[in-house]
Amino acid sequence: MIRVRQIKCSIDNNSIDTLKKKVCNKLHIKESDIKSFKINKESIDARKELMYVYEIDIDTDAKIKYDNDIIEVNEIKYSIDVTGNKSIDKIYIIGSGPAGLFTAYTLSNLGYKVVVIERGSDVDTRIKDVDKFWLSNKLNINSNVQFGEGGAGTFSDGKLNTLVKDKLGRKEHILKIFVENGADPSILYKNKPHIGTDILCKIVKNMRNKIIENGGEYRFNSLLEDIIIKDNKLDSIIVNGETIKCNALILAIGHSARDTFKMLYDKKINMSAKPFALGVRIINPQSIINKAQYNTDKLGSADYKLTYTTKNNRGVYSFCMCPGGYVVNASSEENYLAINGMSYSKRDSGCANSAIVVTVSPKDYGDNPLDGIKFQRELESKAYNLGNGNIPIQNYLDYKNNIESTKLNFEPCIKGNYKLSNLNLLFPEYINDSLKEGIDYFNTKISKFNEGILCGIESRTSSPIRIERDDNMESSIKGIYPIGEGAGYAGGITTSAIEGLKISEVIASIYKN
Ligand SMILES: Cc1cc2nc3c(=O)[nH]c(=O)nc-3n(C[C@H](O)[C@H](O)[C@H](O)COP(=O)(O)OP(=O)(O)OC[C@H]3O[C@@H](n4cnc5c(N)ncnc54)[C@H](O)[C@@H]3O)c2cc1C
Repeated sequence: MIRVRQIKCSIDNNSIDTLKKKVCNKLHIKESDIKSFKINKESIDARKELMYVYEIDIDTDAKIKYDNDIIEVNEIKYSIDVTGNKSIDKIYIIGSGPAGLFTAYTLSNLGYKVVVIERGSDVDTRIKDVDKFWLSNKLNINSNVQFGEGGAGTFSDGKLNTLVKDKLGRKEHILKIFVENGADPSILYKNKPHIGTDILCKIVKNMRNKIIENGGEYRFNSLLEDIIIKDNKLDSIIVNGETIKCNALILAIGHSARDTFKMLYDKKINMSAKPFALGVRIINPQSIINKAQYNTDKLGSADYKLTYTTKNNRGVYSFCMCPGGYVVNASSEENYLAINGMSYSKRDSGCANSAIVVTVSPKDYGDNPLDGIKFQRELESKAYNLGNGNIPIQNYLDYKNNIESTKLNFEPCIKGNYKLSNLNLLFPEYINDSLKEGIDYFNTKISKFNEGILCGIESRTSSPIRIERDDNMESSIKGIYPIGEGAGYAGGITTSAIEGLKISEVIASIYKN
Protein backbone atom coordinates (compact mmCIF):
# COMPACT_ATOMS: atom_id res chain seq x y z
CA MET A 1 0.00 0.00 0.00
CA ILE A 2 1.25 3.48 -0.82
CA ARG A 3 0.77 6.32 1.64
CA VAL A 4 0.70 9.81 0.13
CA ARG A 5 1.21 12.55 2.71
CA GLN A 6 0.79 16.32 2.67
CA ILE A 7 -2.19 16.45 0.33
CA LYS A 8 -3.53 19.92 1.04
CA CYS A 9 -7.02 21.18 0.23
CA SER A 10 -8.89 24.37 0.91
CA ILE A 11 -11.57 23.92 3.57
CA ASP A 12 -14.22 24.66 0.91
CA ASN A 13 -13.11 22.00 -1.54
CA ASN A 14 -12.15 18.67 -0.02
CA SER A 15 -14.37 16.31 -1.99
CA ILE A 16 -13.14 12.78 -2.76
CA ASP A 17 -12.84 13.78 -6.44
CA THR A 18 -10.57 16.68 -5.52
CA LEU A 19 -8.47 14.46 -3.28
CA LYS A 20 -8.13 11.82 -6.01
CA LYS A 21 -7.00 14.44 -8.52
CA LYS A 22 -4.42 15.80 -6.10
CA VAL A 23 -3.08 12.30 -5.36
CA CYS A 24 -2.83 11.54 -9.08
CA ASN A 25 -0.99 14.80 -9.74
CA LYS A 26 1.44 14.10 -6.95
CA LEU A 27 2.09 10.52 -8.10
CA HIS A 28 1.96 11.29 -11.83
CA ILE A 29 -0.63 8.57 -12.41
CA LYS A 30 -4.14 8.45 -13.90
CA GLU A 31 -7.30 8.04 -11.81
CA SER A 32 -7.92 4.70 -13.51
CA ASP A 33 -4.57 3.49 -12.04
CA ILE A 34 -5.98 3.73 -8.51
CA LYS A 35 -7.14 0.26 -7.37
CA SER A 36 -8.13 1.29 -3.85
CA PHE A 37 -8.38 4.66 -2.12
CA LYS A 38 -8.68 5.37 1.60
CA ILE A 39 -8.18 8.50 3.71
CA ASN A 40 -5.79 7.57 6.50
CA LYS A 41 -5.67 10.91 8.30
CA GLU A 42 -7.29 14.32 8.06
CA SER A 43 -5.98 17.26 10.07
CA ILE A 44 -6.29 21.02 9.93
CA ASP A 45 -3.40 23.38 9.34
CA ALA A 46 -4.29 26.82 10.67
CA ARG A 47 -0.81 28.32 10.64
CA LYS A 48 -1.24 30.52 7.55
CA GLU A 49 -4.10 29.91 5.17
CA LEU A 50 -6.66 27.52 6.72
CA MET A 51 -6.22 24.10 5.04
CA TYR A 52 -7.12 20.46 5.41
CA VAL A 53 -4.06 18.22 5.24
CA TYR A 54 -4.55 14.57 4.26
CA GLU A 55 -2.70 11.30 4.28
CA ILE A 56 -4.16 9.02 1.62
CA ASP A 57 -3.54 5.29 1.22
CA ILE A 58 -3.88 3.81 -2.26
CA ASP A 59 -3.13 0.61 -4.10
CA THR A 60 -1.85 0.84 -7.65
CA ASP A 61 0.18 -1.19 -10.12
CA ALA A 62 1.54 2.00 -11.69
CA LYS A 63 5.22 2.76 -11.25
CA ILE A 64 5.74 5.15 -8.30
CA LYS A 65 8.69 7.32 -7.37
CA TYR A 66 8.96 7.34 -3.57
CA ASP A 67 10.08 10.32 -1.46
CA ASN A 68 9.45 11.68 2.07
CA ASP A 69 5.74 12.17 1.37
CA ILE A 70 5.21 9.07 -0.78
CA ILE A 71 6.04 5.96 1.18
CA GLU A 72 5.19 2.28 1.22
CA VAL A 73 3.29 1.05 4.30
CA ASN A 74 1.99 -2.30 5.47
CA GLU A 75 -1.50 -2.44 6.91
CA ILE A 76 -1.39 -3.52 10.55
CA LYS A 77 -4.18 -5.97 11.39
CA TYR A 78 -4.74 -6.43 15.10
CA SER A 79 -5.60 -9.95 16.21
CA ILE A 80 -5.30 -12.19 19.26
CA ASP A 81 -4.08 -15.81 19.16
CA VAL A 82 -5.51 -18.07 21.81
CA THR A 83 -2.53 -20.01 23.16
CA GLY A 84 -3.69 -20.71 26.73
CA ASN A 85 -4.33 -24.28 27.85
CA LYS A 86 -5.96 -23.89 31.27
CA SER A 87 -9.69 -24.57 31.43
CA ILE A 88 -12.11 -21.94 32.67
CA ASP A 89 -15.88 -21.93 32.90
CA LYS A 90 -16.65 -18.21 32.86
CA ILE A 91 -14.73 -14.95 32.95
CA TYR A 92 -16.39 -12.38 35.23
CA ILE A 93 -16.08 -8.72 34.28
CA ILE A 94 -17.06 -6.05 36.78
CA GLY A 95 -18.12 -2.84 35.03
CA SER A 96 -19.44 -2.17 31.53
CA GLY A 97 -17.43 1.04 30.88
CA PRO A 98 -15.03 1.12 27.92
CA ALA A 99 -12.51 -1.14 29.72
CA GLY A 100 -15.05 -3.83 30.71
CA LEU A 101 -17.07 -3.51 27.51
CA PHE A 102 -14.09 -3.97 25.17
CA THR A 103 -12.90 -6.91 27.30
CA ALA A 104 -16.30 -8.59 27.06
CA TYR A 105 -16.63 -7.85 23.33
CA THR A 106 -13.15 -9.17 22.53
CA LEU A 107 -13.27 -12.27 24.73
CA SER A 108 -16.77 -13.23 23.64
CA ASN A 109 -15.67 -12.90 19.99
CA LEU A 110 -12.83 -15.31 20.79
CA GLY A 111 -15.32 -17.81 22.17
CA TYR A 112 -14.94 -17.26 25.93
CA LYS A 113 -18.04 -17.25 28.13
CA VAL A 114 -18.17 -13.81 29.74
CA VAL A 115 -20.44 -12.43 32.44
CA VAL A 116 -20.64 -8.64 32.70
CA ILE A 117 -21.68 -7.44 36.14
CA GLU A 118 -22.79 -3.82 36.22
CA ARG A 119 -24.10 -1.97 39.28
CA GLY A 120 -26.06 0.46 37.10
CA SER A 121 -28.95 0.06 34.69
CA ASP A 122 -29.12 -0.72 30.98
CA VAL A 123 -28.57 2.38 28.88
CA ASP A 124 -32.24 3.13 28.12
CA THR A 125 -33.22 3.09 31.80
CA ARG A 126 -30.05 4.99 32.63
CA ILE A 127 -30.92 7.83 30.22
CA LYS A 128 -34.25 8.24 32.07
CA ASP A 129 -32.55 8.18 35.50
CA VAL A 130 -30.01 10.78 34.42
CA ASP A 131 -32.63 13.07 32.83
CA LYS A 132 -34.70 12.85 36.02
CA PHE A 133 -31.67 13.76 38.11
CA TRP A 134 -30.82 16.76 35.93
CA LEU A 135 -34.39 18.04 36.24
CA SER A 136 -35.17 17.28 39.88
CA ASN A 137 -31.82 16.63 41.68
CA LYS A 138 -33.18 13.15 42.59
CA LEU A 139 -30.05 11.00 42.37
CA ASN A 140 -30.02 7.26 41.74
CA ILE A 141 -26.71 6.28 43.35
CA ASN A 142 -26.21 3.31 41.00
CA SER A 143 -27.60 4.74 37.77
CA ASN A 144 -26.14 8.13 36.94
CA VAL A 145 -23.49 9.86 34.82
CA GLN A 146 -20.73 7.71 36.37
CA PHE A 147 -22.51 4.35 36.75
CA GLY A 148 -24.56 2.25 34.36
CA GLU A 149 -24.22 0.65 30.94
CA GLY A 150 -21.25 2.04 29.03
CA GLY A 151 -19.69 3.48 32.20
CA ALA A 152 -18.54 7.07 32.56
CA GLY A 153 -17.91 7.22 28.82
CA THR A 154 -21.59 7.03 27.84
CA PHE A 155 -22.61 10.57 28.78
CA SER A 156 -19.53 12.20 27.35
CA ASP A 157 -18.16 14.16 24.46
CA GLY A 158 -16.84 10.85 23.18
CA LYS A 159 -13.44 12.24 22.30
CA LEU A 160 -11.32 9.33 21.16
CA ASN A 161 -7.90 10.89 20.65
CA THR A 162 -5.01 9.60 22.72
CA LEU A 163 -1.27 10.11 22.67
CA VAL A 164 -0.58 6.43 23.38
CA LYS A 165 1.98 4.90 21.00
CA ASP A 166 0.43 1.92 19.28
CA LYS A 167 2.56 -0.38 17.15
CA LEU A 168 0.10 -3.30 17.28
CA GLY A 169 -2.89 -1.46 15.82
CA ARG A 170 -5.04 -1.63 18.98
CA LYS A 171 -6.25 1.98 18.59
CA GLU A 172 -7.38 1.46 15.02
CA HIS A 173 -9.05 -1.81 15.99
CA ILE A 174 -11.03 0.03 18.68
CA LEU A 175 -12.14 2.72 16.24
CA LYS A 176 -13.23 -0.01 13.81
CA ILE A 177 -15.32 -1.65 16.53
CA PHE A 178 -16.98 1.71 17.25
CA VAL A 179 -17.76 2.05 13.53
CA GLU A 180 -19.09 -1.54 13.28
CA ASN A 181 -21.46 -0.64 16.08
CA GLY A 182 -22.77 2.67 14.82
CA ALA A 183 -20.10 5.40 14.85
CA ASP A 184 -19.52 7.56 11.78
CA PRO A 185 -16.69 6.03 9.66
CA SER A 186 -14.93 9.42 9.58
CA ILE A 187 -13.63 8.70 13.10
CA LEU A 188 -11.18 6.33 11.38
CA TYR A 189 -9.26 9.23 9.87
CA LYS A 190 -10.16 12.46 11.73
CA ASN A 191 -7.23 13.79 13.70
CA LYS A 192 -9.45 14.38 16.74
CA PRO A 193 -12.28 11.86 16.41
CA HIS A 194 -15.34 12.23 18.60
CA ILE A 195 -18.64 10.37 18.82
CA GLY A 196 -21.07 12.24 21.11
CA THR A 197 -23.47 11.02 23.80
CA ASP A 198 -26.43 10.39 21.45
CA ILE A 199 -24.42 7.93 19.31
CA LEU A 200 -22.48 6.40 22.22
CA CYS A 201 -25.77 5.35 23.83
CA LYS A 202 -26.63 3.35 20.69
CA ILE A 203 -23.12 1.89 20.34
CA VAL A 204 -22.95 0.44 23.85
CA LYS A 205 -26.31 -1.24 23.28
CA ASN A 206 -25.23 -2.70 19.92
CA MET A 207 -22.04 -4.02 21.50
CA ARG A 208 -24.04 -5.58 24.34
CA ASN A 209 -26.30 -7.34 21.83
CA LYS A 210 -23.27 -8.83 20.04
CA ILE A 211 -21.79 -10.03 23.34
CA ILE A 212 -25.09 -11.72 24.18
CA GLU A 213 -25.31 -13.23 20.66
CA ASN A 214 -21.84 -14.68 21.32
CA GLY A 215 -23.18 -16.41 24.43
CA GLY A 216 -22.20 -13.71 26.94
CA GLU A 217 -24.34 -12.68 29.90
CA TYR A 218 -25.18 -9.23 31.27
CA ARG A 219 -26.32 -8.61 34.82
CA PHE A 220 -27.48 -5.03 35.35
CA ASN A 221 -28.30 -3.53 38.76
CA SER A 222 -25.78 -5.99 40.18
CA LEU A 223 -23.18 -4.78 42.62
CA LEU A 224 -19.92 -6.57 43.38
CA GLU A 225 -20.13 -6.27 47.16
CA ASP A 226 -17.35 -8.49 48.38
CA ILE A 227 -14.71 -11.03 47.41
CA ILE A 228 -13.65 -14.23 49.16
CA ILE A 229 -9.93 -14.99 49.08
CA LYS A 230 -8.29 -18.33 49.92
CA ASP A 231 -4.49 -18.68 50.09
CA ASN A 232 -4.06 -15.25 48.50
CA LYS A 233 -6.15 -16.41 45.54
CA LEU A 234 -9.63 -15.32 44.55
CA ASP A 235 -12.16 -18.01 45.42
CA SER A 236 -15.56 -16.35 44.93
CA ILE A 237 -17.31 -13.04 44.49
CA ILE A 238 -20.43 -11.80 46.21
CA VAL A 239 -22.87 -10.00 43.93
CA ASN A 240 -26.18 -8.71 45.33
CA GLY A 241 -25.80 -11.18 48.20
CA GLU A 242 -25.16 -14.19 45.93
CA THR A 243 -21.84 -16.06 46.27
CA ILE A 244 -20.39 -17.04 42.87
CA LYS A 245 -17.27 -19.21 42.40
CA CYS A 246 -14.80 -17.26 40.30
CA ASN A 247 -11.25 -17.91 39.07
CA ALA A 248 -10.74 -14.89 36.84
CA LEU A 249 -12.16 -11.49 37.74
CA ILE A 250 -11.59 -8.49 35.51
CA LEU A 251 -12.06 -5.44 37.68
CA ALA A 252 -13.03 -2.54 35.41
CA ILE A 253 -14.79 -0.42 38.02
CA GLY A 254 -13.85 3.12 36.95
CA HIS A 255 -12.66 5.91 39.25
CA SER A 256 -15.89 6.58 41.12
CA ALA A 257 -16.54 3.20 42.78
CA ARG A 258 -15.43 4.45 46.18
CA ASP A 259 -17.27 1.73 48.11
CA THR A 260 -15.55 -0.94 46.01
CA PHE A 261 -12.13 0.66 46.49
CA LYS A 262 -12.77 0.59 50.26
CA MET A 263 -13.77 -3.09 50.10
CA LEU A 264 -10.59 -3.92 48.14
CA TYR A 265 -8.47 -1.91 50.57
CA ASP A 266 -9.99 -3.83 53.50
CA LYS A 267 -9.14 -7.06 51.66
CA LYS A 268 -5.52 -5.82 51.58
CA ILE A 269 -5.10 -5.76 47.81
CA ASN A 270 -1.95 -3.75 47.07
CA MET A 271 -2.88 -0.20 46.11
CA SER A 272 -1.34 3.25 46.41
CA ALA A 273 -2.33 6.92 46.32
CA LYS A 274 -1.85 8.57 42.93
CA PRO A 275 -1.64 12.25 41.92
CA PHE A 276 -4.61 13.65 40.02
CA ALA A 277 -6.04 17.09 39.24
CA LEU A 278 -9.12 19.05 40.21
CA GLY A 279 -10.70 22.44 39.70
CA VAL A 280 -13.59 23.93 37.77
CA ARG A 281 -15.22 23.90 34.35
CA ILE A 282 -15.26 27.10 32.35
CA ILE A 283 -18.04 27.83 29.86
CA ASN A 284 -17.52 30.32 27.02
CA PRO A 285 -19.61 31.17 23.98
CA GLN A 286 -18.38 28.74 21.28
CA SER A 287 -17.98 31.67 18.88
CA ILE A 288 -15.02 33.14 20.80
CA ILE A 289 -13.20 29.80 20.63
CA ASN A 290 -13.89 29.42 16.88
CA LYS A 291 -12.63 32.95 16.33
CA ALA A 292 -9.45 32.42 18.34
CA GLN A 293 -8.62 29.06 16.75
CA TYR A 294 -9.65 29.41 13.10
CA ASN A 295 -11.33 32.81 12.75
CA THR A 296 -14.28 31.05 11.09
CA ASP A 297 -17.33 29.01 12.07
CA LYS A 298 -16.98 26.94 8.88
CA LEU A 299 -15.08 24.12 10.58
CA GLY A 300 -17.75 23.52 13.20
CA SER A 301 -17.06 23.89 16.91
CA ALA A 302 -13.34 24.30 17.59
CA ASP A 303 -11.48 22.93 20.59
CA TYR A 304 -8.48 24.16 22.57
CA LYS A 305 -5.79 22.81 24.83
CA LEU A 306 -4.10 25.15 27.31
CA THR A 307 -1.37 24.55 29.85
CA TYR A 308 0.43 26.72 32.37
CA THR A 309 2.83 26.29 35.29
CA THR A 310 2.25 28.65 38.22
CA LYS A 311 4.95 30.61 40.04
CA ASN A 312 4.66 27.94 42.78
CA ASN A 313 5.27 25.22 40.22
CA ARG A 314 1.73 23.82 40.04
CA GLY A 315 0.40 22.57 36.72
CA VAL A 316 -2.84 24.22 35.55
CA TYR A 317 -4.36 22.87 32.36
CA SER A 318 -7.51 22.52 30.33
CA PHE A 319 -8.88 18.99 30.31
CA CYS A 320 -11.66 17.14 28.49
CA MET A 321 -12.65 20.18 26.44
CA CYS A 322 -16.17 19.80 25.03
CA PRO A 323 -16.80 21.96 21.94
CA GLY A 324 -20.49 22.75 21.48
CA GLY A 325 -21.23 20.85 24.69
CA TYR A 326 -22.81 21.03 28.12
CA VAL A 327 -21.51 21.06 31.67
CA VAL A 328 -23.27 18.19 33.45
CA ASN A 329 -24.02 17.35 37.03
CA ALA A 330 -22.06 14.07 37.23
CA SER A 331 -22.58 13.24 40.91
CA SER A 332 -22.77 9.64 42.08
CA GLU A 333 -23.11 9.93 45.86
CA GLU A 334 -25.85 11.57 47.95
CA ASN A 335 -24.82 14.99 49.30
CA TYR A 336 -21.65 15.18 47.21
CA LEU A 337 -21.51 17.14 43.98
CA ALA A 338 -19.20 16.57 41.01
CA ILE A 339 -19.43 17.94 37.48
CA ASN A 340 -18.08 17.00 34.07
CA GLY A 341 -18.69 17.85 30.40
CA MET A 342 -20.47 16.14 27.51
CA SER A 343 -21.68 16.91 24.02
CA TYR A 344 -23.89 15.42 21.35
CA SER A 345 -22.54 14.29 17.98
CA LYS A 346 -23.34 17.63 16.34
CA ARG A 347 -21.58 19.67 19.03
CA ASP A 348 -24.05 22.46 18.43
CA SER A 349 -25.07 23.77 21.88
CA GLY A 350 -23.43 27.14 21.17
CA CYS A 351 -21.23 26.87 24.30
CA ALA A 352 -17.71 25.56 24.71
CA ASN A 353 -16.72 24.10 28.07
CA SER A 354 -13.56 22.65 29.48
CA ALA A 355 -12.24 21.61 32.85
CA ILE A 356 -9.50 23.89 34.13
CA VAL A 357 -7.69 21.85 36.71
CA VAL A 358 -4.76 22.10 39.08
CA THR A 359 -2.46 19.15 39.79
CA VAL A 360 -2.66 17.76 43.32
CA SER A 361 -0.64 14.93 44.82
CA PRO A 362 -0.41 12.87 48.02
CA LYS A 363 1.74 15.74 49.41
CA ASP A 364 -1.50 17.79 49.46
CA TYR A 365 -3.86 15.18 50.89
CA GLY A 366 -1.84 12.32 52.47
CA ASP A 367 -0.44 9.08 51.18
CA ASN A 368 -2.83 6.52 52.56
CA PRO A 369 -4.33 4.90 49.42
CA LEU A 370 -7.80 6.25 50.26
CA ASP A 371 -6.69 9.82 51.14
CA GLY A 372 -7.29 11.11 47.60
CA ILE A 373 -10.92 9.97 47.81
CA LYS A 374 -11.24 11.64 51.24
CA PHE A 375 -9.94 14.89 49.73
CA GLN A 376 -12.32 14.63 46.73
CA ARG A 377 -15.23 14.00 49.10
CA GLU A 378 -14.39 17.00 51.33
CA LEU A 379 -14.51 19.31 48.32
CA GLU A 380 -17.53 17.62 46.70
CA SER A 381 -19.43 17.99 49.98
CA LYS A 382 -18.54 21.71 50.07
CA ALA A 383 -19.68 22.09 46.44
CA TYR A 384 -22.99 20.38 47.28
CA ASN A 385 -23.59 22.70 50.22
CA LEU A 386 -22.48 25.81 48.35
CA GLY A 387 -25.00 25.17 45.59
CA ASN A 388 -27.64 23.79 47.94
CA GLY A 389 -27.57 20.57 45.91
CA ASN A 390 -27.25 22.50 42.61
CA ILE A 391 -24.10 23.21 40.59
CA PRO A 392 -22.43 26.30 42.12
CA ILE A 393 -21.53 28.79 39.36
CA GLN A 394 -19.95 32.22 39.03
CA ASN A 395 -18.59 34.59 36.37
CA TYR A 396 -14.81 34.15 36.29
CA LEU A 397 -14.17 37.87 36.89
CA ASP A 398 -16.38 37.79 40.00
CA TYR A 399 -14.46 34.72 41.19
CA LYS A 400 -11.20 36.60 40.64
CA ASN A 401 -12.53 39.53 42.70
CA ASN A 402 -13.99 37.18 45.34
CA ILE A 403 -17.60 38.42 44.97
CA GLU A 404 -20.67 36.26 44.46
CA SER A 405 -22.13 36.72 40.96
CA THR A 406 -25.56 38.30 40.89
CA LYS A 407 -26.05 38.01 37.12
CA LEU A 408 -24.35 35.70 34.63
CA ASN A 409 -22.50 37.10 31.60
CA PHE A 410 -24.54 34.87 29.23
CA GLU A 411 -26.90 31.88 29.25
CA PRO A 412 -24.70 28.84 30.12
CA CYS A 413 -25.26 25.39 28.58
CA ILE A 414 -25.70 23.15 31.61
CA LYS A 415 -27.51 19.84 32.24
CA GLY A 416 -28.64 20.00 35.85
CA ASN A 417 -29.76 22.83 38.10
CA TYR A 418 -27.34 25.55 39.10
CA LYS A 419 -27.03 28.33 41.66
CA LEU A 420 -25.05 31.58 41.64
CA SER A 421 -22.33 31.25 44.27
CA ASN A 422 -18.80 32.23 45.25
CA LEU A 423 -16.43 29.40 44.32
CA ASN A 424 -13.63 30.94 46.41
CA LEU A 425 -15.38 29.31 49.37
CA LEU A 426 -14.95 25.89 47.80
CA PHE A 427 -11.21 25.48 47.37
CA PRO A 428 -8.08 25.73 49.51
CA GLU A 429 -6.19 28.97 48.81
CA TYR A 430 -3.48 27.30 46.70
CA ILE A 431 -6.10 25.98 44.28
CA ASN A 432 -7.90 29.34 44.06
CA ASP A 433 -4.58 31.12 43.45
CA SER A 434 -3.47 28.59 40.84
CA LEU A 435 -6.78 28.72 38.96
CA LYS A 436 -6.70 32.53 38.86
CA GLU A 437 -3.08 32.66 37.69
CA GLY A 438 -3.80 30.01 35.06
CA ILE A 439 -7.02 31.49 33.70
CA ASP A 440 -5.48 34.97 33.48
CA TYR A 441 -2.67 33.45 31.43
CA PHE A 442 -5.12 31.55 29.21
CA ASN A 443 -6.86 34.88 28.55
CA THR A 444 -3.69 35.98 26.77
CA LYS A 445 -4.11 33.00 24.42
CA ILE A 446 -7.87 33.20 23.79
CA SER A 447 -9.34 36.66 23.75
CA LYS A 448 -12.28 37.14 26.17
CA PHE A 449 -11.61 33.76 27.80
CA ASN A 450 -11.90 35.51 31.18
CA GLU A 451 -15.51 36.47 30.41
CA GLY A 452 -16.37 32.80 30.90
CA ILE A 453 -18.55 31.28 33.60
CA LEU A 454 -17.06 28.82 36.13
CA CYS A 455 -18.84 25.76 37.52
CA GLY A 456 -17.64 23.58 40.39
CA ILE A 457 -16.38 21.08 41.11
CA GLU A 458 -14.42 19.06 38.57
CA SER A 459 -12.97 16.47 40.92
CA ARG A 460 -13.04 13.19 38.97
CA THR A 461 -10.44 13.86 36.29
CA SER A 462 -8.66 10.57 36.92
CA SER A 463 -8.38 7.92 39.60
CA PRO A 464 -6.78 9.02 42.88
CA ILE A 465 -5.69 5.38 43.33
CA ARG A 466 -3.53 2.84 41.57
CA ILE A 467 -4.18 -0.86 42.16
CA GLU A 468 -0.82 -2.53 41.76
CA ARG A 469 -0.47 -5.33 39.20
CA ASP A 470 2.30 -7.42 37.66
CA ASP A 471 3.37 -7.68 34.02
CA ASN A 472 0.45 -10.04 33.41
CA MET A 473 -1.98 -7.40 34.75
CA GLU A 474 -2.69 -9.54 37.83
CA SER A 475 -3.12 -7.87 41.23
CA SER A 476 -1.47 -8.91 44.50
CA ILE A 477 -4.52 -11.20 44.94
CA LYS A 478 -4.21 -13.94 42.31
CA GLY A 479 -7.10 -14.19 39.89
CA ILE A 480 -8.00 -10.47 40.09
CA TYR A 481 -7.06 -8.32 37.12
CA PRO A 482 -7.60 -4.58 37.78
CA ILE A 483 -7.86 -2.61 34.52
CA GLY A 484 -8.92 0.73 33.11
CA GLU A 485 -9.21 4.16 34.62
CA GLY A 486 -10.23 3.15 38.14
CA ALA A 487 -7.21 0.91 38.55
CA GLY A 488 -5.04 3.86 37.53
CA TYR A 489 -3.88 2.63 34.11
CA ALA A 490 -6.00 4.68 31.72
CA GLY A 491 -7.35 8.19 31.36
CA GLY A 492 -10.12 8.28 28.81
CA ILE A 493 -12.34 6.17 26.60
CA THR A 494 -9.70 4.93 24.15
CA THR A 495 -6.99 4.15 26.70
CA SER A 496 -9.57 2.30 28.82
CA ALA A 497 -10.72 0.35 25.76
CA ILE A 498 -7.05 -0.48 25.01
CA GLU A 499 -6.88 -1.95 28.51
CA GLY A 500 -9.77 -4.19 27.48
CA LEU A 501 -7.77 -5.50 24.52
CA LYS A 502 -4.63 -5.96 26.61
CA ILE A 503 -6.37 -8.01 29.29
CA SER A 504 -8.02 -10.11 26.57
CA GLU A 505 -4.53 -10.87 25.22
CA VAL A 506 -3.47 -11.97 28.73
CA ILE A 507 -6.57 -14.16 29.22
CA ALA A 508 -6.05 -15.74 25.78
CA SER A 509 -2.47 -16.58 26.75
CA ILE A 510 -3.60 -18.39 29.92
CA TYR A 511 -7.01 -19.96 29.29
CA LYS A 512 -8.56 -22.16 26.60
CA ASN A 513 -11.62 -20.70 24.87
C1 LIG B 1 -19.29 13.27 31.71
C2 LIG B 1 -18.01 12.61 31.28
C3 LIG B 1 -17.45 12.96 30.05
C4 LIG B 1 -16.29 12.34 29.60
N1 LIG B 1 -15.81 12.65 28.36
C5 LIG B 1 -14.77 11.94 27.86
C6 LIG B 1 -14.35 12.11 26.52
O1 LIG B 1 -14.92 12.89 25.75
N2 LIG B 1 -13.30 11.37 26.07
C7 LIG B 1 -12.65 10.49 26.87
O2 LIG B 1 -11.70 9.84 26.41
N3 LIG B 1 -13.02 10.31 28.16
C8 LIG B 1 -14.07 11.00 28.66
N4 LIG B 1 -14.47 10.78 29.95
C9 LIG B 1 -13.71 9.82 30.76
C10 LIG B 1 -14.07 8.40 30.34
O3 LIG B 1 -15.45 8.27 30.32
C11 LIG B 1 -13.42 7.42 31.29
O4 LIG B 1 -12.02 7.59 31.19
C12 LIG B 1 -13.76 5.98 30.93
O5 LIG B 1 -15.15 5.79 30.90
C13 LIG B 1 -13.13 5.02 31.93
O6 LIG B 1 -13.47 3.72 31.53
P1 LIG B 1 -13.50 2.50 32.54
O7 LIG B 1 -14.14 1.39 31.81
O8 LIG B 1 -12.15 2.30 33.12
O9 LIG B 1 -14.45 2.96 33.75
P2 LIG B 1 -15.92 3.51 33.75
O10 LIG B 1 -16.32 4.01 32.43
O11 LIG B 1 -16.01 4.44 34.90
O12 LIG B 1 -16.82 2.22 34.03
C14 LIG B 1 -16.82 1.57 35.27
C15 LIG B 1 -18.13 0.82 35.40
O13 LIG B 1 -18.04 -0.06 36.51
C16 LIG B 1 -19.27 -0.09 37.19
N5 LIG B 1 -18.99 -0.49 38.58
C17 LIG B 1 -18.20 0.16 39.48
N6 LIG B 1 -18.16 -0.52 40.63
C18 LIG B 1 -18.91 -1.62 40.47
C19 LIG B 1 -19.25 -2.68 41.32
N7 LIG B 1 -18.78 -2.78 42.58
N8 LIG B 1 -20.09 -3.64 40.86
C20 LIG B 1 -20.59 -3.57 39.60
N9 LIG B 1 -20.29 -2.57 38.75
C21 LIG B 1 -19.45 -1.60 39.18
C22 LIG B 1 -19.78 1.33 37.06
O14 LIG B 1 -21.18 1.38 37.22
C23 LIG B 1 -19.32 1.72 35.67
O15 LIG B 1 -20.32 1.50 34.71
C24 LIG B 1 -15.63 11.39 30.43
C25 LIG B 1 -16.18 11.07 31.68
C26 LIG B 1 -17.35 11.67 32.10
C27 LIG B 1 -17.93 11.30 33.45
